[in-house]
Amino acid sequence: MSRAWIQEFGRLLALIGGMLFIGFLTGQIVLFLFVALLIYLGWHLYNLYCLERWFTHSKTFYPPEARGIWGEVFYHFYHLQQRNRKRKRKLSAMLKRFKKSTAAMPDAAVVLGKNYEIEWLNKAARRLLGLQSPQDIGKPIINFIRSPTFSQYLADDEKSAINLASPTDPNLILRMHIVPYAGNQHLLLARDVTQIHLLEQIRSDFIANVSHELRTPLTVVNGFIETMRDEDCPKEWERPLFLMAQQTARMCNIIEDLLLLSRLESAPAMEMTQPIVVADMLKTICEEAQVLSGEKNHHISLDADKNLSLNGYAQELRSAFSNLVFNAVRYTPADGSIKVRWYQDKKGRHFEVRDTGEGIAPEHLPRLTERFYRVDVGRSRNQGGTGLGLAIVKHVLNRHQGELRIESTVGEGSTFWCDFP
Ligand code: ADP
Repeated sequence: MSRAWIQEFGRLLALIGGMLFIGFLTGQIVLFLFVALLIYLGWHLYNLYCLERWFTHSKTFYPPEARGIWGEVFYHFYHLQQRNRKRKRKLSAMLKRFKKSTAAMPDAAVVLGKNYEIEWLNKAARRLLGLQSPQDIGKPIINFIRSPTFSQYLADDEKSAINLASPTDPNLILRMHIVPYAGNQHLLLARDVTQIHLLEQIRSDFIANVSHELRTPLTVVNGFIETMRDEDCPKEWERPLFLMAQQTARMCNIIEDLLLLSRLESAPAMEMTQPIVVADMLKTICEEAQVLSGEKNHHISLDADKNLSLNGYAQELRSAFSNLVFNAVRYTPADGSIKVRWYQDKKGRHFEVRDTGEGIAPEHLPRLTERFYRVDVGRSRNQGGTGLGLAIVKHVLNRHQGELRIESTVGEGSTFWCDFP
């Protein structure tokens, strides 16, 4: 037992003893015992009253004067309060530093609640997203970023970043990303990428313009070469003319692929309402692949679900599917087998091309969809490849919410899937 409590019991005993003595002298023991208890209770009530006043009304830092066990209690409260004040000071200094650093951030940061209602925002969020604090706190973010793309983005489970025009200025392009944290909270980050977007547009326009400008002279040159080849030309000219025709055809193919890529990049998001009978499309592609195979005599088989359609752009999908089938023909040795499938399972619809070709080493797989990336440049050129086929496939699939998946073993073959979840 602590010293304070021993003293307290001593004090109580002395009071009761004193009162018992007076009671004994006056013959009123019970009455004076009762008075002793009243005094003791009154003292406790008074101290409780002082404590309550100090907590609620007093502005002084120091506790009221008290004796006995109450002095001890006040002393402990005083120290507890002191500790809390120190902690509060530290926390508010930290909060100030945090607020200053987020205010200095060039990117907009908005804390969103469970239902995407605004809970907090930094200075850049006012400039980039037009939000106001405290007026907009508690309101749904969807009230301020009014775009179907953003609504769809909120509804999606997978949240990779998206580019959107700023609600305050349509010329400002923002890269927005929502990151979930602490269970059901969300952090919306928005970065101004207008400059990068402009540069990307300039690059894309440049490629489209150059390709377009080159197409006409190349068509003229090609035409003349073909005419010269058709006419009786000297024997020694045959080979050079053949090589010239081959190279101009290759250049034409590259230009056509570049133009297609530009179109895919700049085309607006589409509304896919037209169901495409993929089985019919694949039948034609496989027939063309057999012609391309020629003397290599590949065994090309098709297994396509006739009842399974896909909403999208027929021309783009034809380009993607034929690129994969023709690649299989190009990179599979003579008499190899190529299996083309179109089917559905629990995960969605899938287009699959499986070949028994040369295969691709694992280190090349992540880079195959880059423009002009080839595993073997010489071989690709000999096969008439442009190095743009898989980049086109990736773009077309992006526009159809699909994904390209590749598995390959060197010496055994490759399988390419287009997954449409
Ligand atoms: P290319 O016009 O050169 O075929 P792609 O973009 O279509 O360009 O393909 C990129 C590279 O991927 C090719 O150069 C080739 O090395 C490799 N590749 C594509 N498909 C296959 C395949 N079925 N088997 C082996 N390698 C392949």
